[in-house]
Amino acid sequence: MGTVDVNGLTKVYDDGGSNEIVAVEDLNISIEDGEFLVLVGPSGCGKSTTLRCLAGLEMPSSGTIELNGEEVTHKRPKDRGVAMVFQNYALYPHMNVRKNMSFGLKMTTDLSKEERHEKVEWAADILDISELLDKRPKELSGGQQQRVALGRSIVRDPEIFLMDEPLSNLDAKLRTTMRTELQELQQDLGVTTVYVTHDQTEAMTMGDRIAVLDHGELQQIGTPLECYHQPENKFVAGFIGSPSMNFLEVTHRNGRLEGPEFSYELKPEIRDQLRDASNELTLGVRPQDIELADPSVDNAVPASVNVVEPMGEVSIIYIDIGGKTFTAGVSGELIIDNDQELYVHLPPERLHLFDSQTGEAVKNREAIAGSDAIDEYMISST
Ligand code: ADP
Ligand code: MG
Repeated sequence: MGTVDVNGLTKVYDDGGSNEIVAVEDLNISIEDGEFLVLVGPSGCGKSTTLRCLAGLEMPSSGTIELNGEEVTHKRPKDRGVAMVFQNYALYPHMNVRKNMSFGLKMTTDLSKEERHEKVEWAADILDISELLDKRPKELSGGQQQRVALGRSIVRDPEIFLMDEPLSNLDAKLRTTMRTELQELQQDLGVTTVYVTHDQTEAMTMGDRIAVLDHGELQQIGTPLECYHQPENKFVAGFIGSPSMNFLEVTHRNGRLEGPEFSYELKPEIRDQLRDASNELTLGVRPQDIELADPSVDNAVPASVNVVEPMGEVSIIYIDIGGKTFTAGVSGELIIDNDQELYVHLPPERLHLFDSQTGEAVKNREAIAGSDAIDEYMISST
């Protein structure tokens, strides 16, 4: 069992002068047993502070933390049944892998030497590092060291893993491999995991759910696809997805959406959605939803190409629409030149609309659910 309930968690730091830094503000999150929850957000948004409060390394200014239904807000770290893995995994250089992995057990449990030995062998087997047990950290690659650091927390049989950017020190390729390994490991062990990263790709690919933070405040919590397709506000829309969503200020006037070079007649159901909304809206469109268009198409928008980045399967093009740079993803088979003039279409059904003032989503793109989606895809792709 390993549930986590964060209730109204607030952490205020004193900056040493007369200012207060609100690192986390009124955070509420419930995590299910066995869940992999990713806390994601830009640097300084309060991810590590939240995790450190869960671990007991930091005392909340207000709010409570419950693990397995029991309040632990003021309990010591070692009495919480959690194990933490940091970005900076700091193995003891003078100890071999076996000692590095068993040291924590020796300090914090009553296990016998044999029992500790067994645990280390078990964890080493899971992590495929059995043959490294007698080596020193300096003889290991970065990936192997990270595995030992994981081993150090696995041997403790925690109910909850807390991981703070554990893969950031690894090179890109290894990071991708370790991402998959960590996920598999988490599934095999079934241990509830709270994983912190600033990397939205990591969040999207690893999390059962992700919690997006900005300035210490929870912006949205949901499955990766919920956050991607149904962002609750402009911040989440812009943060999740790569390349980022494009934004453009538009006006809603008499059932039409007006922007530079285009004016859509809105469908009645969308008009209904916008009835109580402000007329000043921010339009959001994902790069891959921008279509190249024939100039004769209704609402074809003229654009000029600034830069082309071929990626192979797709090319990312940076285009100028009404004086603003947009990112668009187009088929890699197209040869597009810098400075080329072209036309694009922003399909109305793929658009997101946000209140320009508050950033709240007033309309998200239409997603097609379940078997309907597959049917539709099969029909349109034949
Ligand atoms: P993240 O992990 O998302 O990058 P942190 O939780 O480390 O963010 O920090 C959140 C905010 O709290 C930042 O503004 C940071 O400067 C501040 N902060 C973190 N730890 C301390 C501390 N010990 N003393 C003062 N300010 C801190
Ligand atoms: Mg951090």
